[in-house]
Amino acid sequence: MTTAVAPVQPAPVQPDKETTVGNYFVSNYPPFSFWKPEFVGDAFAALERPPNDGTHLGVYLHIPFCRKRCHFCYFRVYTDKNSTAIKGYIEAALKELRLYAGKPFLGGRKPSFIYFGGGTPSYLSVDQLRHLSDGMKAILPWDQADEITFECEPGTLTDHKLKAIREMGVTRLSLGVENFDDHILEINGRAHHSKEIARAYRYARELDFPQVNIDLIAGMVEETEANWRECIRKTIDLQPDSVTIYQMEVPYNTTIYKQMKAEGRLVAPVADWETKRHWVAEAFAELEKAGYTVASAYTAVKDKEKARFLYRDRLWAGADLLGLGVASFGHVGGTHFQNHHDFEPYVNALTDDKLPIYRALTPTADERLIRELVLQLKLGQIRCSYFHDKFGVGIRERFQAPFRILQDWGFLTLRDDIVSLNRDGLLQVDRLLHEFFLPQHKNVRYA
Ligand code: SF4
Repeated sequence: MTTAVAPVQPAPVQPDKETTVGNYFVSNYPPFSFWKPEFVGDAFAALERPPNDGTHLGVYLHIPFCRKRCHFCYFRVYTDKNSTAIKGYIEAALKELRLYAGKPFLGGRKPSFIYFGGGTPSYLSVDQLRHLSDGMKAILPWDQADEITFECEPGTLTDHKLKAIREMGVTRLSLGVENFDDHILEINGRAHHSKEIARAYRYARELDFPQVNIDLIAGMVEETEANWRECIRKTIDLQPDSVTIYQMEVPYNTTIYKQMKAEGRLVAPVADWETKRHWVAEAFAELEKAGYTVASAYTAVKDKEKARFLYRDRLWAGADLLGLGVASFGHVGGTHFQNHHDFEPYVNALTDDKLPIYRALTPTADERLIRELVLQLKLGQIRCSYFHDKFGVGIRERFQAPFRILQDWGFLTLRDDIVSLNRDGLLQVDRLLHEFFLPQHKNVRYA
């Protein structure tokens, strides 16, 4: 006699109500806590090998200076560096690029995308920006770059500085607006005011940047539904080429968390996850009504042909990246690495003509597959054939269990070659991605 065994039902999706401390956003895989100083030799070895055919090369430069530290900020930033220190930092970054430029991994490639992130790249003066960009171009020309992105804090922009940024060749100007309300900006520690947003946006339009992006955060401290709706209305009024929306998270090294800890609070004083998702859903719906297309878990674009995010797309498809600057992340020939995350060790290494790489990891083939799959799922749709062609793996079989779980939770569909997340799934994609992680990488701190 045989006994029928009932199919095992996956556990129901866990509610994630309150915003508690931790990293929500999945920006890479395996988690950074698995990158180790003892693997730095792998990174140096990868630099000595020629590139694989057709691999894009990008350059990221971290400018770690800001006027004030926002209370939700978890990046490596400094608000106390004088012009001598900034000048020294720029020279260090140029030296870093020069050290890379002599290595075999380049194989004659020039960067196809460049990204100035921070921190606040627009904190630099016009002279500093010109010196930096001229120096970078002299080492590794930008004439083959399809996209040059530059992040700005609206209060640091003058017409003169924006003109210099345009003359650098920047194609996407990303304005860190976050919110349009002066009280919300102030209470969250932002340095800019609402009138500076309008002024910066107007200058940017006059200078005809090919793509102007507005960054928003859903769920800042004291934000209300009415405030959020007003932010979306004002964004749509401006008609940016693209809009990026992040849901507020509270990692360990933020001022908000330090205050929570001091007060013995476990729950952050910001909207809960359900509310934030609801607000982003509303924002996406309004943007769609205004003619925008939702292009990923965080972006809506006005014209799909014109507004692109090549930095994201190429990185998520395994491009090589030179991560310049303090705490920057790079990736060459299958090895991930990160620079020293403090100012002095970073600058001192370069003063000694050494690359400032601090920790590294070479993922296995399976981990590389998971990395691309989870990152590309943030676009809302992936093709099985892409992974079969690139990794020789049938993802429907390899990821049968997590696909099944996400299907049962009502977030995912599998149709022929296409795996898609619905809007509800897309809006909480970062927490769902952990289902695809190897057991040792689940539920670890993402720092
Ligand atoms: S402007 Fe950006 S990088 Fe600077 S402190 Fe604020 S969130 Fe951090």
